[in-house]
Amino acid sequence: MAMNEQKKTVRKKIEATGVMNRIMSDYFYQLDQASKTGEQKIAWCTSVGPAEILRALGFLVHFPENHGAMLGSTRLATDFIPEANAIGYSPDICSYLTADIGAFLKGVTPLSKAYKGIEKVPKPDVLVFNTNQCRDVQDWFSWYARKLKVPILGITTHCGVNEVTEAHVDSIARQMKQLIEPLSEISGKKFDMDEMKQVLALSRECSDLWKKVLDTASAVPSPITFFDGTIHMGPAVVLRGTRQAVDYYQVLLTELRERIKNGVAAIENEKFRLYWDGMPVWGRLSAHSNLFAELQTNVLASTYCNSWIFSAFEPEDPFNSMARAYTELFIVRSDPFKEIYIKTMMDFFKVDGIIFHDAKTCPNNSNCRYGMPQRIEAATGLPSLVINGDLNDLRLVSDEQTKTNIEAFIEQLEENR
Ligand code: SF4
Repeated sequence: MAMNEQKKTVRKKIEATGVMNRIMSDYFYQLDQASKTGEQKIAWCTSVGPAEILRALGFLVHFPENHGAMLGSTRLATDFIPEANAIGYSPDICSYLTADIGAFLKGVTPLSKAYKGIEKVPKPDVLVFNTNQCRDVQDWFSWYARKLKVPILGITTHCGVNEVTEAHVDSIARQMKQLIEPLSEISGKKFDMDEMKQVLALSRECSDLWKKVLDTASAVPSPITFFDGTIHMGPAVVLRGTRQAVDYYQVLLTELRERIKNGVAAIENEKFRLYWDGMPVWGRLSAHSNLFAELQTNVLASTYCNSWIFSAFEPEDPFNSMARAYTELFIVRSDPFKEIYIKTMMDFFKVDGIIFHDAKTCPNNSNCRYGMPQRIEAATGLPSLVINGDLNDLRLVSDEQTKTNIEAFIEQLEENR
């Protein structure tokens, strides 16, 4: 290193990344193969939808939100959003939806660049949504159903739930059971309760391990950052219910526990610890990671990454427990519930403050619009910062303003010490 060249603080690389990249690559190639040959049926599913039912019925599962996030992280999304706007989908609605439909209309997918030989997203035999996160997913899948003339099925769920009651669980479990017959007809496979239980047991194991991975961030210093979480959650999203996902999180957890044992920090000289609420800004993951790292600040926990923890799954009671798990989601809950949850998390992860991302095109997962930051500040005595931006549409992101606001926030934390 030259004398005047200063070493920049960046987050420490996770060695298990190579293993994860291999299983993600296998997953995408398997879907591509099935799409080209028709050897196995393919279902598209929302990311917190009933993926376990689909796997138990022998479907391979593609997740359009995962594809939307890939469009975001490769910074292609902004180019394709106008294509969807031109056919009537507003620039104000979910930019996963508009980016994904726009890319489809242009015949482009980031999968082609990442995985040689893959030219298109896999062709669906059925589309299955769950509105537990938002209505946008239903509109999104409905567009594909019309365009590709593919059957669409869905679960309409509750929102603003304070306490999850038996009535909620019953109504969702009933809708889940009603999916079995039509899905079984499409897949050509008879439903087998034992297979359902096995898939759910693997999903539960994946979920428990993923929770343990995220919980390592409570160590001081933390061995992991929120930005690592957004990358390493890939298997928990697209491969839960499989052995590969379980095996992967064992490898990752071992590495992180080793870091804790040896006092190895994800951010060298960790000085401040922050909690992130809301969507990531996919096209700015490394920029944000570097910005915080240089301020010796670790954004180490989030509601977003924790959304793929489904502790209610009970393999012996598949439908009721899936109904419960998919209704207990943070995004579906009332503000009073969310506030207690966030406060508990801030306490557990020993953070110095909280960042709320106000994602313009995702009001569903932006929790700062009805006074929550102020209520959280009052309840915890810890400061908050709201940053305006978006998950995918980079025209809605001001890098300068974000940097200035974050730097000022960290300065405020310094002063309060
Ligand atoms: S929750 Fe937000 S980002 Fe996710 S699909 Fe719905 S609108 Fe899009």
